[in-house]
Amino acid sequence: MGDRWTVLLVDDALSATTALQHALHDAGAVVRTATSASEGISLLMDEPCDVAIVDLELPGESGLAVLQHLRVDGGQTPVLMVSLADDVATRAEAFRRGADDFLVKPFSVPELLARVDRRRALHRALLVSRTEATRLHELAVTDGLTQVANHRHFQDRLREEFRRAQRYDDPLALILIDLDHFKTVNDNFGHQAGDEVLVAVAAAIKAAVRETDFVARYGGEEFAVLLPKTHLAGALTVAERTAADVKQLVVGSAGLKVTGSFGVSGFPGRSVNTSEQLVRTADEALYRAKREGRNKISLFQASTVVTTI
Ligand code: GH3
Ligand code: MG
Ligand code: MG
Ligand code: MG
Repeated sequence: MGDRWTVLLVDDALSATTALQHALHDAGAVVRTATSASEGISLLMDEPCDVAIVDLELPGESGLAVLQHLRVDGGQTPVLMVSLADDVATRAEAFRRGADDFLVKPFSVPELLARVDRRRALHRALLVSRTEATRLHELAVTDGLTQVANHRHFQDRLREEFRRAQRYDDPLALILIDLDHFKTVNDNFGHQAGDEVLVAVAAAIKAAVRETDFVARYGGEEFAVLLPKTHLAGALTVAERTAADVKQLVVGSAGLKVTGSFGVSGFPGRSVNTSEQLVRTADEALYRAKREGRNKISLFQASTVVTTI
């Protein structure tokens, strides 16, 4: 027994398709029928199908309308056209519009069934390779330990968001976070305990920011948060909330606690005309926070750096 699959059969002479319907049913398909293009399309709007078998000659709009509906937005549902016309021009037109197969009536039911099977197999393979491509892409842009974006993904996103901010005159803020005295966590509790802390911190940062903000692991124990459409003041609020949440973490059986130093910068700003400058100024602010004793948030503003608690 295979999985249940659905076939949409659109034909104005349904009574002539009884043998086909039975054969599809025996092959495990749930068959839904329509006698016009518009009825077929409204069935599809209720529920998609796995395969469509569509008569070309229908009253009103032709079967090409159903095909077109299934090809909107790159839809790849297998579509087999059936037709009384067996001229090359009609066939070519159907293929041009995205038909996967074309059979002239009266067709052999076993042949149509075999063609449907082949189309289903190809479609399944297409879905698998798409899923695999998505998975590989996710792997390539995600940090393996913390599951937030990796450095390369951050660089790509930074450039993209900076361009967008410039084009639409939107603010864009960046928070850089470096955990304090993280080496001592590793030295005293081991690298694995340190890794657990990094995982917990990444999750805390992610939870503290908006869905539209972008969290990345910038380096070893450094994280970056990109905040589209956010001014420096808004970013400061986010940094304060994030700092408080990170500070509250108690990680693992050893009950480890960490703090972070935060550097915040924003576009537009007097020294921030490029994405590189946005990073550099946030980094300067971060180092100021370190110098001033760690567990602090620094804002980069024009030529001065203001440290807050
Ligand atoms: P501070 O930033 O406050 O100046 O001190 P720090 O000790 O955090 O700074 P430093 O840059 O000297 O050390 C960073 C430490 O982060 C050293 C390294 O062992 C640790 N680290 C970096 N990546 C990882 C990682 O993936 N896992 C673990 N467990 N530790 C890491
Ligand atoms: Mg017809
Ligand atoms: Mg560091
Ligand atoms: Mg550090």
